[in-house]
Amino acid sequence: MTDTTQLRVPDLGDFEDVEIIEILAAIGDIIAVDDPLITIETDKASMDIPAEIAGKIVALDVEVGGKVSSGSIIAEVELAEISEQCEQSEQKKPAATKSKETPINQPIGDATHSAKLLVIGSGPGGYTAAFRAADLGVDVIMVEKWPVIGGVCLNVGCIPSKAYLHAAKVIDDAEAMADHGVTFDKPKINSKKLRDWKNGIIRKLTGGLQTMAKQRKVKVVNGLAKFESANRVVLDTGETIDFEYCIIAAGSKPTMLPGLPDDPRIVDSTGALELTSIPKKMLVVGGGIIGLEMACVYAALGARVSVVELADNLMPGTDPDLLRPFMKIIKKRYESIMVSTKVTGINATKSGIEVSFEGNNAPQTALYDRVLIAIGRKANGNLLDADKAGVSVDEFGIINVDKQMRTNIKHIFAIGDLAGGPMLAHKASHEAKVAAEVIAGEKSYFDARAIPSVAYTDPEIAWVGLTELEAKAKNIDYEKAQFPWAASGRALAIDRPEGFTKLLFDKKTSRILGGAIVGQNAGDLISEIGFAIEMGSDASDISLTIHPHPTLSETIAFSSEAYEGTLTDLYIPKKKSS
Ligand SMILES: Cc1cc2nc3c(=O)[nH]c(=O)nc-3n(C[C@H](O)[C@H](O)[C@H](O)COP(=O)(O)OP(=O)(O)OC[C@H]3O[C@@H](n4cnc5c(N)ncnc54)[C@H](O)[C@@H]3O)c2cc1C
Repeated sequence: MTDTTQLRVPDLGDFEDVEIIEILAAIGDIIAVDDPLITIETDKASMDIPAEIAGKIVALDVEVGGKVSSGSIIAEVELAEISEQCEQSEQKKPAATKSKETPINQPIGDATHSAKLLVIGSGPGGYTAAFRAADLGVDVIMVEKWPVIGGVCLNVGCIPSKAYLHAAKVIDDAEAMADHGVTFDKPKINSKKLRDWKNGIIRKLTGGLQTMAKQRKVKVVNGLAKFESANRVVLDTGETIDFEYCIIAAGSKPTMLPGLPDDPRIVDSTGALELTSIPKKMLVVGGGIIGLEMACVYAALGARVSVVELADNLMPGTDPDLLRPFMKIIKKRYESIMVSTKVTGINATKSGIEVSFEGNNAPQTALYDRVLIAIGRKANGNLLDADKAGVSVDEFGIINVDKQMRTNIKHIFAIGDLAGGPMLAHKASHEAKVAAEVIAGEKSYFDARAIPSVAYTDPEIAWVGLTELEAKAKNIDYEKAQFPWAASGRALAIDRPEGFTKLLFDKKTSRILGGAIVGQNAGDLISEIGFAIEMGSDASDISLTIHPHPTLSETIAFSSEAYEGTLTDLYIPKKKSS
């Protein structure tokens, strides 16, 4: 006998008439409990509606573009002989992996879960690896200790900081237009609303990841994983996961100064992104990219910001010329910038956080309402009991890998922040694809020629490939060509002429070796230089590519023309005859 029942939309809270953006099931499908039926999207997030009952779909009452509310009927399901039908449908499914001996979500021995591939961490490294492997037919479990997936980047890193930086840019741009006849009232900042907007962006992105995980049948397990052996992890929930392959993508965490008082006015980058309030006076300890981006945000929102850096320049390791236009602007905006200065003490007092300094241009002590510690990040490699799997971790928490992202244990891979190199999301996701592809049996290698770096400060600073500091240190014979944005029509038209574009070429072959841009949208513009490096382009490839006018991208072609001596938009005495 067959019984039918209706599958309905569960309680959607305050949401009504929510749009259906995808139908994930069809008439005739055998579905299990929790299989996604439809994807709906509100202005806040997209989410899958899963089946609450297993069965065979005999009618579908929804269509893409249609609207649903709590209780709307999605489908009609036949309940009889389910177990038999599930078995049949499972048999009809293509093998999930190329490997014959691989179990598909079948516990090996007594483990709670098992999979061919276990990915530890769900940041840009982890989710990219999990999704790429699943797309290649590998059976994947992704374990994440936080209740949401997306890692540092989506939740407390790249994305929230860029949302606030956008707000900062709108404020600064509006103020700057006063010089050109357009004035606005002083902005009123509602930090709760700003925070809600930022949280909405995060929800949208992490919700999208959840949906994609389900669509790809990547099983997400919540818990903190530690190795028990070279083929098993145990979670803090007591569950165990067995695996054939593992990708460690457990990321990094902020480094804090030792002996800090426990006081909510002392925060790390995660605390600063919570934007609980806007302090009157704020100190940023650490003049690296993360600290300077947050300084940019808080200064625009009205805080009197000071920055202290131990090295003799901000963004240590960056070509000094790139910093000049940036320094010129922030010197006007910030209360003080103290380089070659050491923080020698931080005390919490009733009237503020008292910080003592050692440095030529620093006060002995000063009081602040908020202190952001942004002195770097430490890889999480040594928090995983990796030794129980035989995986070597260095003193900095870094797990060394080869070009295929393999650790010293052949079937265990490591990617992202804990695998060494620059701690950047786009590096993590590239490494992720390599590791996933190798596990799926492809011949993949991490062989990128260059990884771009971007400070999304105002102005933005971006560089890729060889820097001048590196070239000098390695005695590389290079020639520099530069185009000042003061001569760019577009830069003038947006009132941001302070920047410049510079390219470094191999003197013998004219091949591009590296490049850097300071100015608005430098972070977007740098990709063209990265592409040219990957393609092994020479100066004429860049100069002869027609760039649209008037754009900031033209400054890349103009720099190349300056190298070749063909530039007409600026008079530079010719260096090379054509
Ligand atoms: C404020 C800020 C701004 C940034 N801005 C940028 C930017 O603009 N561009 C850029 O490229 N990079 C930026 N970064 C760096 C970027 O966020 C990281 O490089 C990137 O997130 C690294 O990705 P990942 O996958 O290696 O690790 P993560 O994103 O750190 O993810 C690791 C995940 O693993 C989980 N995890 C850790 N240990 C375990 C365990 N034992 N068991 C289960 N789960 C575990 C963690 O909870 C986390 O979710 C920024 C970082 C910060 C803090």
